[in-house]
Amino acid sequence: MAVYVNILGAGLAGMTAARTLAKNNIHVRLFSVQVSQRAQSNLAEGGLNAALNMMGENDDINQHFEDTMKGGCYIADPDMVKGLCEGAPSIVNEMGRIGVPWHMENGHIIQRPFGGQKKRRTCYAMSSTGKILTTASIDDTRKYEDSGLIERYTHHKFAGILVKNNKCIGIKIYDNHEGTYNNYSGPVIICSGGMNGMFPSITTGTTSNTGSVTAMLYNSGVKLSNLEFIQYHPTTVKITDKRMLISEAARGEGGRLCYLDGETKVYFMEDKFGERGNLMPRDVVSKEMAMLNKKTYLDMTGLSSDVWNNRLKDLRDEIIDYLNIDPANELIEVAPGIHYFMGGIKVDINHETNIEGLYAAGECAAAYHGANRLGGNSLLGAIYGGKTAAESIIKALDNFDDKEVLNEFSDDLNENIFLSEEEKSKDKVLTGILIKSMGIIRDETSLNLGLCELENIESNNTSFEFKSRLNLAKAMIECAINRRESRGAHNRTDYPESNDSYKKSTTVSLVNNEIIIE
Ligand SMILES: Cc1cc2nc3c(=O)[nH]c(=O)nc-3n(C[C@H](O)[C@H](O)[C@H](O)COP(=O)(O)OP(=O)(O)OC[C@H]3O[C@@H](n4cnc5c(N)ncnc54)[C@H](O)[C@@H]3O)c2cc1C
Repeated sequence: MAVYVNILGAGLAGMTAARTLAKNNIHVRLFSVQVSQRAQSNLAEGGLNAALNMMGENDDINQHFEDTMKGGCYIADPDMVKGLCEGAPSIVNEMGRIGVPWHMENGHIIQRPFGGQKKRRTCYAMSSTGKILTTASIDDTRKYEDSGLIERYTHHKFAGILVKNNKCIGIKIYDNHEGTYNNYSGPVIICSGGMNGMFPSITTGTTSNTGSVTAMLYNSGVKLSNLEFIQYHPTTVKITDKRMLISEAARGEGGRLCYLDGETKVYFMEDKFGERGNLMPRDVVSKEMAMLNKKTYLDMTGLSSDVWNNRLKDLRDEIIDYLNIDPANELIEVAPGIHYFMGGIKVDINHETNIEGLYAAGECAAAYHGANRLGGNSLLGAIYGGKTAAESIIKALDNFDDKEVLNEFSDDLNENIFLSEEEKSKDKVLTGILIKSMGIIRDETSLNLGLCELENIESNNTSFEFKSRLNLAKAMIECAINRRESRGAHNRTDYPESNDSYKKSTTVSLVNNEIIIE
């Protein structure tokens, strides 16, 4: 039997990794709790960045690189960011080839301005870029499913990695259909998305991405990075038990942020930062809104009918449907909400973790975005990262043995990847503490208080999943305490300035139950 590669997660990162391997005749198992149609990737609205220079602004890859490094406050690995920016134009072409109808006018792709970028660089497909990219990817993936190279296992849940001598030789999966645990041999790529479920109620992302995969990996010795950097998107609106995003495309196409002084609209971002104030990087805008501490609004009333009809039609429909507000005529009250995790599983340039044979890509991996991600760079990062992880495995395939004996792993872990009812209520307390502690503005006193509150949550006789989530929550707060400066999405009132001695990534690991921060 040939070596199989196991991919956990079937969003854009997972599907891209799977197709890259299958194109090279390598067999893949693609596991996910939900079908690809429901992955977070579908929710992406605004677009994907590539320096195609379609708008006659002399854009190029170096400027994409410079904007990405600057947006991330210069702590991302420059070699990795260079690869990302160089790879972007061919990703746009490849996605077009498999059926993505990029928005075009007069025979060429239209690129829109997005936050923190000097040039119009964001390619899009209506206001549903993620859904359209995912649909095309699902279709292309199906070809390899039909030929048998990709085997799909949906409604399958991560239960652990199988590690021998610091080498990952397989994955443990819970089959929801059969109610059984199974071990699968071969290298593993984790593509499990962001840790939204650690921050329910204030996230724009799907809480089906619970954060538990990252938590369980951390508990199993996998190093994480930059957990203190959590992106708050400036324009979100509360709906039901989470937050709805109003895409940055709204400001890219002319939307403006304001507050009201009586009847007068005060455009505070423009007043402070000039003409491009509304399109400052997200960390800057969210911080301004938090400091303002006033009701803020998105004003799209000045947009032309051409923009509404050609570029933001479905965004307007969505706002009318969900909020009962017509943004062409009325202001929308907005506030920052958690939107993206710059931190996550630490990977090297090959997307390999500190455990040989274990790779990670997409939002679960801390790779390209440093202290703050630029809008449009994460769809790119998910596709590029999935491709890179797969290509790295192809190069290393001879190191994997298809006859690895997994029997020795058969009994452990089977017990506990589900939260009991009691743990679910403890988890509510845990996430509440995180939400309170890891806000836009932080200080040592409130972070320490959060840590103490976490310490008080009883963790004896708990499931592997809950124990892991508790440890991950503590690691997040410890990382935030440890970075005694303000940088990107991490703002400390007690250390309001950036400090060059912190111009680097944080690495955190759990060794003998102790949090080690490097
Ligand atoms: C509302 C919104 C709009 C956005 N708009 C943009 C945009 O315009 N441009 C941009 O660049 N980025 C955008 N983003 C960010 C972007 O969508 C994500 O970062 C990206 O899609 C992540 O892709 P992924 O493949 O890493 O993860 P996902 O698409 O989240 O896929 C994760 C996969 O892991 C599986 N999984 C999770 N947990 C488990 C488990 N325990 N066991 C088994 N499987 C599991 C899931 O089922 C899923 O298949 C947006 C995000 C949001 C929330």
